Amino acid sequence: MRPAVAAKDKKPARSPKSDLSVRSEEKSSDLLERKCSIASTVGILSDAWAFLVIREAFFGARRFEEFRSGLEISRATLTDRLRRLTQEGILREASYSDTSSRVEYKLTKSGIDLYPTFMALMQFGDRWLDPTDGPLQLIHEDCNCVSKPLVACSCCQKKITAREVTYLDGPGAGVVGAETNARRTRRTVDDFMRGRPSSVSRALEVIGDRWSFLIIREAFYGAARFDQFQAELKIASNILTDRLSRLVDRGVFKKRKYQSAPERFEYLLTPMGADLHGPIMMMMAWGDRWRAGGEPPMLLKHSVCGKIFTPTVVCNRCGKPIHAYAMKYRMRYDPNKFGGRKSSRAVPGRV
Ligand SMILES: [Zn+2]
Ligand SMILES: [Zn+2]
Repeated sequence: MRPAVAAKDKKPARSPKSDLSVRSEEKSSDLLERKCSIASTVGILSDAWAFLVIREAFFGARRFEEFRSGLEISRATLTDRLRRLTQEGILREASYSDTSSRVEYKLTKSGIDLYPTFMALMQFGDRWLDPTDGPLQLIHEDCNCVSKPLVACSCCQKKITAREVTYLDGPGAGVVGAETNARRTRRTVDDFMRGRPSSVSRALEVIGDRWSFLIIREAFYGAARFDQFQAELKIASNILTDRLSRLVDRGVFKKRKYQSAPERFEYLLTPMGADLHGPIMMMMAWGDRWRAGGEPPMLLKHSVCGKIFTPTVVCNRCGKPIHAYAMKYRMRYDPNKFGGRKSSRAVPGRV
C-alpha cells in the first residue's frame, strides 16, 4: 500500500493495524487507537512549552534562570515543565557543585536523541516556511561543511519520501485506550513562536496540536476522507472539522470534492504536507527507541532498497548520520535579543 499523497480513487489504504474494521464495530464507549510510537513523541513535542525548554537545552541552557530568560516563561510553568521532562527522562537533574544544593538540568541520552527529529523539523521549516535560508546555518564537523541534513534510509542511505515507504505491523502492534477528546486543546499553538527565531518552531506551529499531528500521520497511512480520519482517531467531529480546516489554511492539505450530492470532500497532502513525512518518521524512530520497550508497533519498508529500515538523519554533504555533538551553528540573528544563549554547539561536549 502506498501513502495517500494525491491519491485518486482510494479505498482506505491498509492501515498498519489489521483490526480496524473490527474496532469500528465496537461499542462507542470502547475507544481504542492503534499503538504508535509517533504518538508518544508527539505527546512531548506538541506541548509548546516542553518543546521550547528542550530547544533551549540544545542551545546550552542548564539553569532555571537561563531557561527563563530565553523564553519569557512564568516560574510556575517552567517549574512544571522541568519536572515533567525530568519524569519523562528527557532531562536529568545535576548539582551545580559540591557546595550548592541547587540543581541544573541536562539532557539525558534520550533527550539528546531528539536532536535528529529537531533537525528534520528544522529543515522542513527552512524549506517551506522561511523566505530567507533559515535562522541557523549548520556546520557538520565530521566533514566541515555547511550541512542541510535529510531523512534517509538506514540501509541504503538514500533520502526517503512518503511514496517509497510502506508500513508493516511490528512486534509491538496492537491497540491502546484512546485519549479522550476533551483533554487536549490547541490553545498553546501560538506559544511555539516564543523566544528566538526558529524553523523548528515554525514547523511545529504549522502542524499545530496533538490532534493535528495524528491527522497528518493518518494521511501518511492512507486516510483522506473525514470518516476515515474519524474511524482511526476516534476524534469528535467538531474537533476534526476544526483541525482539517486549519491544516488546509496552513497549506498542509488541499481539499478536493469527490461527491456532489451531498457534497463531500477529501483531504490530500500538498507537496509541503507530504514533506512532513521525514520529521514524522523521525518521531516514530525516537518513540521506537525510547518508548516501545524494544517492540516497535510498526516496521518501515523502503521500496527503493526493499529492506526494513530505521529512518536516520544524515548530512547531505558526507552522508554520515547527524549527532548533536558533531554539529555547530552559525546564527543569522542576534542571540542577545533572546536571553543571550549563544552557544555555537548543539550539545557542548559528548555525553
Ligand atoms: Zn533504503
Ligand atoms: Zn557531513
